[in-house]
This record gives sequence, C-alpha cells and structure tokens, in this order.
Amino acid sequence: MSERTFSILKPDAVRKGDAAAILAAIEKAGFKLVAIKKITISKQQAEGFYHVHAARPFFGSLCEFMSSGAIFPMVLEKDNAIADLRKLMGATNPANAEEGTIRKQFAASIEENAIHGSDAPETAAFEIGYFFAGYELA
Ligand code: ADP
Ligand code: MG
Repeated sequence: MSERTFSILKPDAVRKGDAAAILAAIEKAGFKLVAIKKITISKQQAEGFYHVHAARPFFGSLCEFMSSGAIFPMVLEKDNAIADLRKLMGATNPANAEEGTIRKQFAASIEENAIHGSDAPETAAFEIGYFFAGYELA
C-alpha cells in the first residue's frame, strides 16, 4: 500500500555536495518525491524535531549539528516507504551500515550520518507536519 515517509538530507551531506547523488539513489529505489525544500533551522527548531531524544547524552551535539547548515527536508511516497527508506539508509552508525546503503556511501560518523528517515507511521505523521503545511503536500 502506498505510504508516505519523511526524510532529511542532513547538513554534512549538503555541505559535501552529496545531495543530488543521494536524491538520485532515493528516486532509483522507487520513491516519489512529494515535496522538498532547502532550509536552515535554529537549534531550538532542531530540539523540537528530535524531542524524543531529549534525554540522550548526544542530544545537544545532535541539535547543534542539525542547525549547522542547510538541510533538505522532504516527503517521499512509495509502497512500504517507511521500512524501505530505513533499509536504503542503512544503520545509524555507518561503521555498521551494509554495502550499498546511503549511510555506507555518504556518512562520516554516527552523528554526521547524511540522512534522516522516519521510523514508524506515527513519527512520520509528526515529522511531515513539523516541516510541511498541507498545501505543500497537495
Ligand atoms: P536514526 O537516525 O538511525 O533513526 P536515532 O533515531 O537513534 O537514529 O538517532 C537520531 C540521530 O541522532 C542519528 O541519526 C544521529 O545523527 C544521532 N545519533 C544517534 N546516536 C548517536 C550517538 N551515539 N552519538 C552521536 N549522535 C548520535
Ligand atoms: Mg530515529
């Protein structure tokens, strides 16, 4: 069944000039690009996005990183989009990511790992709404 997920090309990927290559891999894997934009967020806006991680020791550093440069938030659509994007992304730590995954190819570290992808339908709904208004998804 067709499903939407939310993704972000993170500041490390944008800085390195890997955005187009990662988008090409996503499209080649069958995802339809429903919406995408280039923005820079404040640390406070990053904290709101990652609120579920607020108690984690890496929270402050993660939110500094996510507000350190331009990002591309996007909404992707495909059958089984949420699980399939997680598979295409690879493990959080690129050292553990499988060959052929985006993080294996483009991530430098467990923090600067190139891409975000929603992990469940509820988080996808929250994350899409955090970055996109309804009229941008019509
Ligand atoms: P994922 O992005 O694979 O869903 P998590 O939801 O666990 O991973 O973590 C969110 C983000 O926080 C990661 O993508 C990464 O940028 C950062 N992160 C996760 N674990 C660590 C860690 N141990 N040290 C530093 N940053 C981390
Ligand atoms: Mg996560």
